[in-house]
Amino acid sequence: MSAGPFITPVEEALRPSTSTEILAYLARLAAGSPRACCQHLGHSVRGQALVALHCGEAARGLPRVLLVGSHHGGSEPAGGEALLLLARDLLYGDLQGLLERFEFMLVPNANPDGRDAGSARNAREVNLNRDYGLLSQPETQAVNALLLAWRPHIVLDAHESAALKRHTLGAEGYLTDFDCQIDIANHPASTAAQQALAVELLEQTLQEVRANGLRAQRYIKEIRSIRKPMTHGGVAIGRFRNKAALYGALSFLLETPMLPKDEVYPSYQNIAARTAQQQVCLRSFLRVLARSPAVLDGVPATATPLCAGMALSLSGHYQVDPHEPVRWLDLQRYPSREPIQLPFANHGWLRPGPAVVVPTAYYITEHTAVFARALSAHGLRYEWVTQAATVPVRSWRCAPTGQRAAAEDRLLALAAGHLQVSTTQPLVRLACLLLEWESPSALRRYPEFQRLAVPGECQVVHRARALAPPAAGTGAAQRAAAPP
Ligand SMILES: [Zn+2]
Repeated sequence: MSAGPFITPVEEALRPSTSTEILAYLARLAAGSPRACCQHLGHSVRGQALVALHCGEAARGLPRVLLVGSHHGGSEPAGGEALLLLARDLLYGDLQGLLERFEFMLVPNANPDGRDAGSARNAREVNLNRDYGLLSQPETQAVNALLLAWRPHIVLDAHESAALKRHTLGAEGYLTDFDCQIDIANHPASTAAQQALAVELLEQTLQEVRANGLRAQRYIKEIRSIRKPMTHGGVAIGRFRNKAALYGALSFLLETPMLPKDEVYPSYQNIAARTAQQQVCLRSFLRVLARSPAVLDGVPATATPLCAGMALSLSGHYQVDPHEPVRWLDLQRYPSREPIQLPFANHGWLRPGPAVVVPTAYYITEHTAVFARALSAHGLRYEWVTQAATVPVRSWRCAPTGQRAAAEDRLLALAAGHLQVSTTQPLVRLACLLLEWESPSALRRYPEFQRLAVPGECQVVHRARALAPPAAGTGAAQRAAAPP
């Protein structure tokens, strides 16, 4: 297929695009098509524009697919490069038919400063794919706002991974050996229906990628030693794909390998081949979506209702897989590059952690403006208390560093200006994960919030204890201007 006027730097100069070139390329693609437009999402730390390319017709109500590339900037540019080519194929090439079935949003360059600096992190040295729980960076705030505003049904986050880790697996004399890895969102708070359909699409995509000549497998977390067990991807909600799942999307991670940088390749660090590999995977994924009745009929109600009194698992832990306690994985010897299979203890069995019973509400009694800002950024609803009331709660008294906090059941005097976060809201799972004391994803665990806690005093987030709605007073609370 001819690339026509839309040649990318990878094709023309055999090197990755700069952030400025990506912006210009997206603008050119959009200018030539009535079915595309650029959407401004926000800015990076250094003030570079974060832009999404919308492809398709919003009015038709087709399933919405969000594809994101280069969260890890200049260290992992190939996903972004492949998304530029995919956009061209959707608008002008052989994938135009997909615009009859889906609406697309492509964010090829989720970390413009990192791309231009050749870094995996943003300009403040933050790993953006760990920041979706705190949303401390302008880049993650912008992409998270897109998740909330556009509500994609399907999300894919494209990454790369160095096959040679010099200081860990490489030092033991091995490098990893795969062409494509795919993972699903795996936080146990995402629903069973969501996970079942995601696994089905994952398996089909792996088959499709294999049919196109690449060796594909379910994602295996970076192997740092042949003596350590293998697991799959991280479960924290700071990861983009897990966060997207909490908003109801079926969410995936794609990873392709980068070969050792000190070898000689036809393009700069083999970027042309890496981009082509990403393209095969992305196109396979879209083909699978396009023939999935479950996806085309509108992804089933992934946000199963969850309400007060029901159980919610706050975390998950990998354990030995009882069905396959040992897994043989493909590796290569380094530096000979001779293929070898080695056995690993298979800790790929994700077991949900302890569950909590969802309370009717959480109350926040101090630093309310800070919490209100955080809740709004996550799309959570809250109310400002307008009348004094007394409510039974469970609070945790902050202990000095190194000591356990003590839970205490007590009556809390709510006053005007306090915050009430009801769990009768669509994003109840996220509300609990961010506010529940025991949650590994709780806001209180971030340094920014830890600073607000005073040892010896009760922490500022309290859990409603009664299942019945709280009595007088809070009923008069006013709905805050949180996004719907
Ligand atoms: Zn990455």
